Amino acid sequence: MIEIPNAEKGKVVVRFAPNPSGYLHIGHARAAILNDEIAKQYNGKLILRIEDTDPGRVDEEAYTAIEDDLKWLGVDWDMKIIQSERLTTYENFAEQLIEQGNAYVCNCEQEKFKALKLAKMSCPHRNLTTEENLKNFEKMHTEDGWTVRIKTNLNEPNPSLVDFPLLRASKEEHPRLKNNVLTLYPLMNLSVAVDDHLLEITDVLRGKDHLTNTEKQKFIYKYFGWNEPNFIHYGIMSIGSEGKISKSEIKKGIDEGKFTGWDDVHLLTLRALKRRGINPQAIRNYMLNLGIKDVDIEFSEEALYFENKKFIESCFRHFFIEDPLGLTIENFPDMVVRFPLHKEHTYGFRTFDLVPENNKINLLIQKSDAEKLKEGDEIRLMNTCNVRIKKADTTTGRVIADYVENSHGPMVEINGKNGEKKKFHNIPKVLWLPEGGGIKAKIYCPERTADGICEIACKNLKENNIIQFETFGFCRVDKVKDNLIEFYFTQR
Ligand SMILES: [Zn+2]
Repeated sequence: MIEIPNAEKGKVVVRFAPNPSGYLHIGHARAAILNDEIAKQYNGKLILRIEDTDPGRVDEEAYTAIEDDLKWLGVDWDMKIIQSERLTTYENFAEQLIEQGNAYVCNCEQEKFKALKLAKMSCPHRNLTTEENLKNFEKMHTEDGWTVRIKTNLNEPNPSLVDFPLLRASKEEHPRLKNNVLTLYPLMNLSVAVDDHLLEITDVLRGKDHLTNTEKQKFIYKYFGWNEPNFIHYGIMSIGSEGKISKSEIKKGIDEGKFTGWDDVHLLTLRALKRRGINPQAIRNYMLNLGIKDVDIEFSEEALYFENKKFIESCFRHFFIEDPLGLTIENFPDMVVRFPLHKEHTYGFRTFDLVPENNKINLLIQKSDAEKLKEGDEIRLMNTCNVRIKKADTTTGRVIADYVENSHGPMVEINGKNGEKKKFHNIPKVLWLPEGGGIKAKIYCPERTADGICEIACKNLKENNIIQFETFGFCRVDKVKDNLIEFYFTQR
């Protein structure tokens, strides 16, 4: 339960208000999930508000992408509004502030205005009469360069709070409106305050990085005599590698071919997490654990994986041999080997019938394992038998070994947890698959793309299945092709 001071069941109205400048990422998920949970827990309403009044920060495809991603996250909104459809509403409220004498219309050059502000002096427009300001407001509809500014206090210690802008005229075309005329766009503090008031938002949940915006919006509430909503500022969740969420860096990376798209395996967009097989409920649980505390925290991928593992750990186990290399074992007896699909669940088995030809059997092992071998080494083929290496020259593409019966290799001794001595066989375990009969596999991981062979039982896999490749990690089936399965790496 998220504790909201003075919240009444059935009366709570909250909003999630993204900017459609790109796809949602893990940072957005926090605000979306917390507001959604509050609406659900208090039997209230959630409004989805698309804040698209800055035409330079609008990406047309983001409108539907945001809704799709929110649906995937399990966020249910009761109403959706798009701010670019409400431009006259904001304009009307800006005009009312001018009529009240609480705002003015200014076309001072930015540098000049800034210098005056730092000197705690007013610009010439601030002292014009209401009539003159209303006349200038009319000009704003036809003339470039005008801005409506709210009157605050010239002595504000924080200069950004001094006469900040509310509305601006711009000829920039809005990608959604396709308007080719001078248009009055609200700045976010005007549109946010107006909408939060009109939509009767009871609780405004936002990060501490919005504290100054809250202060600005309070001026607007005060001038109109509106009741303030309950402002809640939670701590900032920083994301270590900014490149994984930065819209500009992602766009650049896609253009340069560094990323395959917004769902590239390297990214922390919701699309990428979905493609990797992260369960949306795991994201929700992670965000609920963080809650609305006001301490700053760093997003932890490990903590998210910890939550996610609960949803995927009961999946099937399989073998994947990365960079396969041949292993020929001589003097090999007939053998049928069974591996459980899961060690704790009774899902059944994968069976390998190992029938030697001329007493020899050909297997595949991973190149990284083969490179560690030298002549005379004894290794254990995972859950099967031991072999002794005869020829370990990996440059020939094949390792030759001898089957070893009843040998358990060198013993080592360790201290058990009650102080007792424990002995076990210290033999390196090596993954293997029969040579031939496997399926080509490609696994897109954040660090690399792994190519290799997965076991024949993987032929039953379907898109979106999640499995665990033993010693490798969990993977989501991305595409099943003719003789190739492509996976996205989920986690270890
Ligand atoms: Zn001015």
